[in-house]
Amino acid sequence: MISIDAVADTLTELHDRLRTLDEGTVADYIPQLATVDRRLFGLALVSMDGHLYTAGDADVPCTIQSVSKPFVYALALADLGLAEVSRRVGAEPSGEAFNAISLEPGTGRPANPMVNAGAIVTTSLVAADSPEQRFERILACLSAFAGRPLDVDEQVFASEAATGDRNRALAHLMRGAGSLTGSVDDAVTTYFRQCAIRVTAADLAVMAATLANGGVNPVTGTAVVPEPIAMRVLAVMATCGMYDAAGDWLLRVGLPAKSGVSGALIAASPARFGIAVFSPPLDATGNPVRGVAVLREASERFGLHLMHHR
Ligand code: GLN
Repeated sequence: MISIDAVADTLTELHDRLRTLDEGTVADYIPQLATVDRRLFGLALVSMDGHLYTAGDADVPCTIQSVSKPFVYALALADLGLAEVSRRVGAEPSGEAFNAISLEPGTGRPANPMVNAGAIVTTSLVAADSPEQRFERILACLSAFAGRPLDVDEQVFASEAATGDRNRALAHLMRGAGSLTGSVDDAVTTYFRQCAIRVTAADLAVMAATLANGGVNPVTGTAVVPEPIAMRVLAVMATCGMYDAAGDWLLRVGLPAKSGVSGALIAASPARFGIAVFSPPLDATGNPVRGVAVLREASERFGLHLMHHR
């Protein structure tokens, strides 16, 4: 186990060294995301006793993007249970890009909740009387995971809503196949809003730590989701969280994780800590270059791999 001083020193050291790593491309298919400063680099770690360690730009907001997916999956599981959710969204790594048309032949059921198709269905499964109430419940859930009230970056939302034809097309295909029920417009609009929720690396580390802590937020003490749900969400993150790089990630880093196109990345070490990195440039698989580098190094150096012999 790592000592507390070593955690703080390690974050600072990783931050100072890896900030010279200047590879990758900032996502621009959502035009507003391309306006961000590519040099931003924040690290945060939250331990199971609720202590927050940070380095660099850990308090600079970014949009959560795909890092929202595991938390909304948790909410859908809490609402409907694993059997019902699994009937609608699979749990198999697609081995494909985040925006792939990964739908089961015949049924149109999406491969898993971490790719866009699966996330759009998951969002639509959240129990509510109206699309507005559905989004309010999603925002409240993510806020409970973060331990503070979150809000929406309306510019990023508008930018994605104006350009999100691929996600709209995916939703239409799923509705045609019967795997998405209800209005396509409502489903994608709620999904775009969820992706535009504003968080910092510090927030994301608390959210990841809540999953690592069996669903109890280690900072606020709130039980956000029951323990079996936190465990299942981590399982799906471990196999599907890094898209088509998920296998390589499990091999080299060995922690449940989730990345987003804003450059946000979370990973959780069950019963130990949650960690988050924010750095906008992405590699060819859509995963953040520096986030991946930080986690690879930290995992190797401290033997964090889930399969590590302790
Ligand atoms: N909002 C983004 C999209 O649907 C999320 C994708 C991601 O973060 N990988 O394209």
